[in-house]
Amino acid sequence: MKHKILHSIYTIFEDWSSKSNPHLACCKGCSTCCTQNVTITALEGEDILRYVITKKMVDKFATALLQSTDFSRPKYTTNDFAKACLDGRDLDPEIQSDNGGCPFLENNLCTIYPVRPFSCRLFVSDVTCSPGNPAQVSDLHLEASTAVTQVIEHLGQKEYWGNMFDVLLALLDIGEYREIADRFNQTLIIQARMCTLTAKPLPGFLLSEEEGPKVAQLLETIFETEVDHKRIEDILNGK
Ligand code: SF4
Ligand code: SF4
Repeated sequence: MKHKILHSIYTIFEDWSSKSNPHLACCKGCSTCCTQNVTITALEGEDILRYVITKKMVDKFATALLQSTDFSRPKYTTNDFAKACLDGRDLDPEIQSDNGGCPFLENNLCTIYPVRPFSCRLFVSDVTCSPGNPAQVSDLHLEASTAVTQVIEHLGQKEYWGNMFDVLLALLDIGEYREIADRFNQTLIIQARMCTLTAKPLPGFLLSEEEGPKVAQLLETIFETEVDHKRIEDILNGK
C-alpha cells in the first residue's frame, strides 16, 4: 500500500511539474545534477533494491554502491528542518561536500531510472546546468517539491531516512535482499545503519503567501487521490 501511494505521488508531482515548468532545459543524457548527495526514505530504497534484483543488475549495482564513498550525510530530515522553522528554532547549517557524480550513472544515463527517488525527480532547471552554472528553478517549484518531500518522509516515518547510499546499505539486513547483501561486509552495513536518521511525521508545511495557495492545490490533489479505494490523506492519518 505505501509503495502504491509513493508511486501515485511521483505521478501527480511529475504531471504538475511538467505543466508548471513548460520551459525546462532538462533532457535525456543531461546529468550534471546527478551527485552523491541524494536523500531517500526506506520505501524508496526498497524499490531500488527490488528493481536491481528483478533486473539481474546485482553485480553492477554492488560495484557502484562500493564506489559511493565521498558523500554528505544530512544532520536533519526535511521534517526536522520544517519543525524547527515552525517552532522558530535555528539549526546548524548543513555543509555539503562538492563530490563526484552518482555511481549509478552510466554513459550519462541513470541505471535505476524507473525507481529513482523523489530527490532525483524533483531536480529540474530552466537553464542547462554545468560546473559553476547552477540550476535555476522557480520559487513555486522549490516550495512544492519541499512540501511533497515532507509528505513522502511522513509516509516513511519511523524508518530509515538519509543519504541514498547509507539507506541502501542499511536495508541490506532484510532477508529479501540477501543476494545483494552477500556482496558486502557486515561491518559496512552496520556502519551505514548507524549513519541514517529516522523519518519523522509531518509537523506542518512551510508555505509562503505568494506560492502557498498553488502548493496547497497540489497537496490537495495528492491527499484526495484514492489508492485501493482509500483517500491518501486518510491513509497518511492512519484512518
Ligand atoms: S537539472 Fe540541470 S543537469 Fe539536471 S537534467 Fe536538468 S538541466 Fe540537466
Ligand atoms: S539515482 Fe539516477 S537520477 Fe538519481 S542522482 Fe543517481 S544517476 Fe542521477
